[in-house]
Amino acid sequence: MRVGRRFTTTGIRTDHVVCDICETRIKPCGGWDSSTVNVGARLGEVFPEGDFRTVYEVDICPKCFTDKVIPAVESLGCKFRQRDAEDSTDEYYQRIVEAES
Ligand SMILES: [Zn+2]
Repeated sequence: MRVGRRFTTTGIRTDHVVCDICETRIKPCGGWDSSTVNVGARLGEVFPEGDFRTVYEVDICPKCFTDKVIPAVESLGCKFRQRDAEDSTDEYYQRIVEAES
């Protein structure tokens, strides 16, 4: 949840972000803790005239993502992939292909 959100002449300003699950304040990235959580989707169509997708997004803290979102999503029968952030997606999928062949 975006708190203190207001429009200014230079753009949209948000005072701080609160987790939509536990309602604690989400710390902005800084220092060595660079955890970020992005849960959402952009569904719909994009034409030359414009982007008509609907954006779905929530604000979730790293602890709720780990403790609640991962188990909830995996209870649907899928498994989150994990990789080192420095591994490019191409290298990651190449390793999967090599492992499966
Ligand atoms: Zn939370």
